[in-house]
Amino acid sequence: MSKFLISKYHELEAYTPGEQPKDMETFIKLNTNESPFSPSPGVVSALTNEEINKLRLYCDPDCTLLRKKMAELFDVTPDNIFLSNGSDDILNFIFMIFCGDEVKAAFPEISYGFYKVYAQLHNVDSYKVPLREDFSIDHKDFCGLNRTIIIANPNAPTGIALTLDQIEEILQSNPNDLVVIDEAYVDFGADSAVKLTKEYSNLLVVQTFSKSRSMAGARLGFAIGAKEIIDDLNTIKYSTNPYNINRLTQAAACAAVDENEYYMEKCRVIMENRAFTVKKLESLGFTVIPSKANFIFVKSDKIDGEELYLKLKERKILIRHFTAEKIAQYNRVTIGTLEQMKTFIKAVEEILSEV
Ligand SMILES: *Cc1c(COP(=O)(O)O)cnc(C)c1O
Repeated sequence: MSKFLISKYHELEAYTPGEQPKDMETFIKLNTNESPFSPSPGVVSALTNEEINKLRLYCDPDCTLLRKKMAELFDVTPDNIFLSNGSDDILNFIFMIFCGDEVKAAFPEISYGFYKVYAQLHNVDSYKVPLREDFSIDHKDFCGLNRTIIIANPNAPTGIALTLDQIEEILQSNPNDLVVIDEAYVDFGADSAVKLTKEYSNLLVVQTFSKSRSMAGARLGFAIGAKEIIDDLNTIKYSTNPYNINRLTQAAACAAVDENEYYMEKCRVIMENRAFTVKKLESLGFTVIPSKANFIFVKSDKIDGEELYLKLKERKILIRHFTAEKIAQYNRVTIGTLEQMKTFIKAVEEILSEV
C-alpha cells in the first residue's frame, strides 16, 4: 500500500480471478468457465485490416449497429440495451449508482464473489441471504426485502437456477426496488428473464459474451431493462469512459450476433458434455449439484476438495477451488470439449485409485 491511498480503501479485499497460467497451452483449463470453442467464423473475418487501421479513430460510444442487432435478437428496442466492458463493469455500476447510503443491497451468501467486493468498494450495506442446506436459493427469502436485489441465475458457483415464476414473485413483492438478474450462464439450460423486462420496470437483466459466446477476452457485457434504468447506466458511463467498448470488440460482436445459431449449437454440445461428466462423476461416488450452467460443483467423500484440485493441477488440469468454509470440500469444474472431459475423468479415476 502506498502512502497515497486514501483510508476508505485500506481494507478493500480485491477479487481473485481464476488462474491464467503463462504456459496455458500445456493445461486443460476447466477453471474460469470460458468456452472451449473458438468464436464463430464471421467474428474472425470481421477483424479486417481495414478495421485495424481504423483503430486510430475513437470507436462509436453508442455502439449503434451492435445495439440495433442485439435489440432484434432479444426482441427489445435499442433503448433497452446497455453495453459495457464486461458484465463485471456493469455490476460495478449497479453497486455504484443503485445502492448506497439510503439503498441497501441483498444477494445470496454463496454466489459470484464479485458482489461482495463491489459492495465493499461502494460501502453498501448488504444482506447476504443464506442458502438452503442443498445450496438452493429459497426465493421467498428475497420477497419484500426493500433492498436492491442481485441474484445470479443460474447461481455461481452452484449452477442451480430459479424458475421464471420464482423470479416474478420476487419482482412482484419488491415493486419499488431494483431486481438485478445476472444471467452470465443462462444459455446453458435456464430460462432467461429478458422477456419479463417488458412487464416489470424494476427488472434489469445482465448478460455477457464471455461464456456462451466465446469472447471472454474481448470484454463485452450487456444489460437489458426499462429505458429509464438504461439511461441511468449511460449517465455513469458517459461520466467515466464513453468509449468503453473498443472498435474491434464492436465489430466482432456484430458478427457474433449475426451467427447466434453457431453459439446456441455450441451450448447444446456443452450441455451434452455436462450430462456425460455428471454421469461419470456420480458413478465414481461424487456428489454433483444439479447444474444449468457450463460448470458443475462437485465433491467426493474419498478425497479432500483442495487435495483433488492440487492433484489435478500436477496433471496439468486446472479446476477452481474456493476456500470459503462452507464450500471448501467442493470444486467447480468448467465443462469443456468431450475430449477434455474424458481426460479429466481419467485423471480423477487415477487420483482416486491412489488415495
Ligand atoms: C463470469 C461472470 C461475470 C463476468 O463476466 P464478464 O462479462 O467477463 O465480466 C458476471 N457474473 C457472473 C455470475 C459470472 O460468472
